[in-house]
Amino acid sequence: MQSDRHLSNSNHHAGKRPSDSLNPPAPLLPADTEDSQLTLSLKHYLKQQDIEQIWEAYRFGEAAHRGQMRKSGEPYITHPVSVAIILSRLHLDTPTIIAALLHDVVEDTGITKEQVAEKFGAQVAELVDGLSKLDKIEFQSATEAQAENFRKMLLAMSQDVRVILVKLADRLHNMQTLDVMKPEKRRRIARETLEIYAPIANRLGLNEIYQELEDLSFKNHYPMRYGVLSKAILAARGNRKEVVGKILDAVKDRLAEMKIDAEVYGREKHLYSIYKKMTGKTIAFSQIYDIYGFRVVVKDLPACYAALGVLHGLYKPIPGKFKDYIAIPKANGYQSLHTTLFGPFGTPIEIQIRSQEMHNIADAGVAAHWLYKTTDAHFTAMQQQTHQWLQRLLEIQSESADSLEFLEHLKVDLFPDEVYVFTPKGKILALPKGATAVDFAYAVHTDIGNRCVAVKINQELAPLRSELRNGDHVEIITAAHAHPNSAWLNYVVSGKARAHIRHFLKSLQSNESAELGERMLNKALLALHTDASKISDTQWQKLLRDYGAKNKQEILTDIGLGKRLNVMVAHQLMAMGEEHGERHAKQPNKPLGTITIRGSEGMAVQFAQCCRPIPGDPILGFINKDKGLVIHTHDCPSIRKFRVDPEKWLDVEWDPDTKRLFKVNLKLATANKPGMLAKIAAEIAQANSNIDHISMEESDNSAYTNIMFTVQIENRVHLAELMRKLRRIPEVVRINRVKGSGAEQRAQ
Ligand code: MN
Repeated sequence: MQSDRHLSNSNHHAGKRPSDSLNPPAPLLPADTEDSQLTLSLKHYLKQQDIEQIWEAYRFGEAAHRGQMRKSGEPYITHPVSVAIILSRLHLDTPTIIAALLHDVVEDTGITKEQVAEKFGAQVAELVDGLSKLDKIEFQSATEAQAENFRKMLLAMSQDVRVILVKLADRLHNMQTLDVMKPEKRRRIARETLEIYAPIANRLGLNEIYQELEDLSFKNHYPMRYGVLSKAILAARGNRKEVVGKILDAVKDRLAEMKIDAEVYGREKHLYSIYKKMTGKTIAFSQIYDIYGFRVVVKDLPACYAALGVLHGLYKPIPGKFKDYIAIPKANGYQSLHTTLFGPFGTPIEIQIRSQEMHNIADAGVAAHWLYKTTDAHFTAMQQQTHQWLQRLLEIQSESADSLEFLEHLKVDLFPDEVYVFTPKGKILALPKGATAVDFAYAVHTDIGNRCVAVKINQELAPLRSELRNGDHVEIITAAHAHPNSAWLNYVVSGKARAHIRHFLKSLQSNESAELGERMLNKALLALHTDASKISDTQWQKLLRDYGAKNKQEILTDIGLGKRLNVMVAHQLMAMGEEHGERHAKQPNKPLGTITIRGSEGMAVQFAQCCRPIPGDPILGFINKDKGLVIHTHDCPSIRKFRVDPEKWLDVEWDPDTKRLFKVNLKLATANKPGMLAKIAAEIAQANSNIDHISMEESDNSAYTNIMFTVQIENRVHLAELMRKLRRIPEVVRINRVKGSGAEQRAQ
C-alpha cells in the first residue's frame, strides 16, 4: 500500500530522523555533493551543467547565511536546501531551484537583487525579488471574503507562477518544522496556511502539497483533535487491514481477468478531509467508513471507462455517488472517475480511476507542465484551456534563446481584471483594473470619496488620478470642506465612484441654483418695494399649490435654472397676498434690482462662450430656459438682437471678491519665427495664467501669423497685466481680446 503523501514522508526525513528508515538517507548538507539529497533528486531530470549551477547557488547562499541559525538550532541554509528539494521533486527548472536556494538572501542578508542578477542572471533575480515582495505582505484579516482577496492578491503579485510555487514549498517546509515555535505562533501560522496557502495549492492543482499543508495546519491549529483523530485512524487501520487487503486483491484480480492493465493502490485519506467531513455533517468517527479509498491507474482514457465497467460489475455502485471528472474536469485541471461501491462487508468503497497522464497532473498540477512537455497525452479541451498559457510559455521558452525575452512573456496575469490593495487598517480591497485613488476612496466609504483631496500610496503623496497597483498601501487624505470634482469622472473606473460623483454634482447643481434663485427672487421683490421676510407661509403654500411644486426649494431652483422668471414669481407671490386684502404698491415697470455674480454658482450661471465675460467687464444676464442664467458682456455682438426684449434681461454685476479663474480668448499676430509659441507660453506662465487652448491659422508662409489662445485669468486687471507682458515680446505685433464671432473683434 502506498501513502498518498510520499513527497511529505520522504521530506520529513530531511536530515533529521535518519533512524526512521532502514537505509540511511542521503545527507542534506553539504548540498553540493554527488550523494546529497538535493543532487540525487536533481539527477532525475537535470543535466550535469545545470546541477553545477545549482551547486554554485548553494555555495553562494550558504556563505550569505553563514552564522544564521534556525529556531531549531540548525544552520539556516538547511531551510532553503529543503525548499529546493521539495521543488526538485516537482521537477522544476534550474532558475526556480536556484531561486529557492536564494529565496531569503535579499531579505535576511546583505545581498542585493543586483548582486543576484549579476551572478545568476535577471530571471533568478526577478524570482527572488518576487519572493521578497510576498514576504513583506502581512496577513491580518479573519473573514472568508478577505482570505479570498488575499489569495488572489498573492497570485496576482506573483506574476510568474514559479514565484508562488517556491512560496508554497517555503511554507510547506516551515509547516514541517513548526514544532519549535510557541503554541500561539503555531496556531497563527497554521490558520494562515489553512486560509491562504492550502487553497492556492489546491487551485493550482498541487494535490500533494495541498493535502500536506492542510494536515500540518490541522495538527498545529487543533493539536488535541488531531491527536484523537490520528489515534482513532491508527486503530481503524489495524481493524480494517484485513478487509482492505481482501478488497484490494479482489479488484486487482478482476481487472487482470478482464485484461485491463492497471496499478491499484489502497490509499488513506488525509486527516483534515476526514475531519472536515465529520464537522461538516456532524457525524461520529465510527460512521466514517471511507478513511480508505482505492486508486486505479490505467494506461489511457478509454481504459478508465473500461475499468469502471469492470468494477461496477464486481461490486454494486451506490447510486448518486458517481462523478465523471474526465468529461468535466475540475477548474484546476484535475481529471478522474470517482465512484463508490457497496463493499463485501457492508463498507462503502471509494474508488478513483484515472490514466497515468491524469495521475501526473493530479499530483503536480501546474508544475506537471514542466514535467511533461510533450503533447502525446489526450488532453481534453478543458485542460487545454486551463493550462494554455503555460503551454504557450513553454513554446516561447524553447524557441527563444534570449532569457530576457522569455521573462517578458513569463509575466502571467492570473486575474487580469482586478487589482488588490490595502487600506490603512490592513483590509484588502479588490478594485477593477485601472482603478485610481478616487475609486479606492469611494470603495472605502462614500464620505471618504466625497471629501478626498490627496492620497498617500506606499507612504508617498501621489495625485488622486494615480492608478493603483497590486499590493499598494493606500491612505486617503480628506478635508472637511472638500467635494467631488467633475474632472474625476474622466479617470474613475468603478461604477460606485462614478454614481456617487454624478449624484453629488447633481445635488450641488440644484443647491447652487436654489441659492441663485433666492437671490434673484429677492431682487425682484425689492423692486416691488417689499422683501422676502414679508412673504407669509400662506402665500408660499398657495403658490406651491398653484404651481404644483413640492416645496419652496423647487421653485427657487427653477428660478435659478431659468425655468421660471423671478419677476413672474414675485408678482404671483404678491398677488397671493392681495387676496387677503394686503396692500402693496404695484409698480411693475420699476427696474429690477441687480444680481451679484460670484462665479461660484456652478451650473446655475453660465458664462457665454461667445464673449467670455471676466470680472471687471460690464455684464448682462439673460435668462435661458435650459441653461439658467447666461452672462454676456454688454458689448457682446451676439446679443444685440436679443436686447430688445427687456423682460428676459437681468441686471447683474460682479461680486468684488470672485475667487476663480475665467477663460478669455486672445488673438495674437506675431512674426512667424521658430520658438515663438514657447516664448509666448513662457510669458503667460510668468503672468500666473494658464493656457486652456491654442489654435493657429493655417500657415501660408507669410512673415506673420495669427495665434488664438484661450487663457485663464482672474479679472480685467489680471488680463491687462498679461497683455502688457505679451506686448513686450518684440515679435508680437498685435493683441486682441476676442468677443463674439472672430469677425467682430475689437482692439483693446
Ligand atoms: Mn523561507
